[in-house]
Amino acid sequence: MSTELRRVTYGNHGVARLTPAPDKPGPYMGMPKFSKAVKDELNLSVQRKNMRNATTTIRNKRALRVSESPDWDDLRDAAEAIKNRVGRHLDHYLVEAEKNLTANGVHVHWARDGEEANRIVAQIAKDKGADEVVKIKSITSQETDLNEYLEEQGIAAWETDLAELIVQLGHDRPSHIVVPAIHRNRAEVREIFLHEMKNYGRPAPEDISENPPELTNAARLHLREKFLRAKMAVSGGNFVLADTGSLVIVESEGNGRMCLTLPDTLVSIVGIEKVLPTFDDLEVFLKLLPRSATGERMNPYNSVWSGVTDGDGPQEQHVIFLDNGRTDVLADTLGREALRCIRCASCINICPVYERAGGHAYGSVYPGPIGAVLTPQLRGVDHPVDRGLPYACSLCGACNEVCPVKIPFTDILIKLRNKVVESEKSDKIPQDYEIAGEMGLMKTASWAFSDYKHFEAIQVGSRGMGRVLRGKKVGPVPVPVAQRWLKYRDVDAPPSDTFRTWWEKNREEKR
Ligand code: SF4
Repeated sequence: MSTELRRVTYGNHGVARLTPAPDKPGPYMGMPKFSKAVKDELNLSVQRKNMRNATTTIRNKRALRVSESPDWDDLRDAAEAIKNRVGRHLDHYLVEAEKNLTANGVHVHWARDGEEANRIVAQIAKDKGADEVVKIKSITSQETDLNEYLEEQGIAAWETDLAELIVQLGHDRPSHIVVPAIHRNRAEVREIFLHEMKNYGRPAPEDISENPPELTNAARLHLREKFLRAKMAVSGGNFVLADTGSLVIVESEGNGRMCLTLPDTLVSIVGIEKVLPTFDDLEVFLKLLPRSATGERMNPYNSVWSGVTDGDGPQEQHVIFLDNGRTDVLADTLGREALRCIRCASCINICPVYERAGGHAYGSVYPGPIGAVLTPQLRGVDHPVDRGLPYACSLCGACNEVCPVKIPFTDILIKLRNKVVESEKSDKIPQDYEIAGEMGLMKTASWAFSDYKHFEAIQVGSRGMGRVLRGKKVGPVPVPVAQRWLKYRDVDAPPSDTFRTWWEKNREEKR
C-alpha cells in the first residue's frame, strides 16, 4: 500500500476505513421506504431551501436554452426514434459494439449484476497492483455499491467530480444524478472541506472561506495528488458507439479528462442501454443533453475514446457492459421506454415531489421521476422501498413535458402501481400497510359503483355525515389508514344534499 493511504476512524461509525463512509452505512436498500423517509427529509428546512434555490435556477436556465432551439421538438423526436431502435435491436448493437471495441484494443466484459461488475473492477485493480482508483461519472458504480466493495478489498476509491467529492467527504449519499450535492450550501461545503480533507489527503487551508473559487481551488489541490498518483481510473459512460467502438464521456469540470488521460488503466462500467448505433447519432444527444441537464449550450468537455494509443493516455482500456436488471426492463414493452433515459435530470428538476422531498428519500441512486419508473423495474417490487416508489408521485405530468427522450412517465407509473397491487395480492410478499389500505378503498369504491342501490346507500351515509359536520372539515377518524391520509390533507365535509336531490328540487318541479 502506498504511504499516503491510511485508515481513518473519524466519522466512519467507529470503523477504520480508507475512504469516508456514508452516515447511514450499508446499501441504499437498507433505507426506509419513501413514505417513511420523506417525513425526516421534510423536516430538514435548510435542505429544502437549498433544493428549491438550486432546482429553480437550473429549471430557468434549461427553459432559456430550450427556447433558443427552434428544432427542439424535432431533436426530441429523433432521440426517441434512435433510442427505440436501440431497444428493438439491442442484441445486434451490443455485439457490434463489442466487435469494434475489441478491434480497437479495448477489453470488453459482461456483468449480469452489480456484484459481478464489482468483482471484475477489483480483479483488474489487483492485477495492476492498484490500491486506489480515481472515479468519474459514478452513477452506475453507485448502483452497484462499487466503493463499498473496493473498500472491503483494501482498495480506496476517490470521487473526483466536485459534487461527488463533497458527498463523499461529507459521509453522505448523492441526492441528484447531475448535481449530487444539490442539497448542500456553500457554508456546509466549507465545513466539510475544512474538517474532512485533512483525513484523506491534502488539507483545505485553515482560513478557507465560503467563496466558490476558494472552495474549488481547495478541491483541485486535494484531488491533484490523487490524479497524479492513481494507476487506475474507473468511469461510467454517457454513450458507447457501436459502429466505431468508442466510449463517449461528457462533463463540465475537466476532472473527467484527468481521470481519462493520467492513469495507465481505464475501466468503464456502462449500462447495456447506453449503446448508440452510429457516430452520427451522437449529434442529436450532444445537443439535447447539456441543455437539458445544466442549461448549457454545449458541454465544456466531450471525450470520445476509441481504444488506446502508445505513449498517450491510458495504455489499457476495459469496458464492462452491465445488465443488473436492464434486460428484464427491456422485456416489458411499455416499461422499456425508461431505458431511453440519458440521465439529464430534467425530470428531477421539474418534479414538485422531488423538490420538497430531496433525493435521499427515494432509497436509490436514481431519485425523482426517473427513479420512480426505473428503480422498481431494475430491482423488482418485492422490497418495500421499491414498492413505494411508483407512489412517490402526484401524476402531475410535468416530467413528461421536459424529458428530451419523451419517456411517458405517468403511463409507466400507473402500470407499475398496478404491478405492485397485483404482487400484493399474490401473497408472495408481505402486505404493505398503506397499499393494503388503498386496495381496501378501491374495493369499497368498486362495490359502490357496481349497483345503484349500493351507491344510494353510500349517498344516504354521506348526507348524514354532512349534516353532522355542518360544513366543518373532516377531522381525525378512528380508522388507521384514513387517519394517516387525513393527517396531511384538508377534506371538506360532504354536502348535506346530493346532486340528485338538488336536481329533483330545482329542476324536476320546474318542468
Ligand atoms: S428520464 Fe428523461 S428527463 Fe429524466 S433524466 Fe432521463 S432523459 Fe432526463
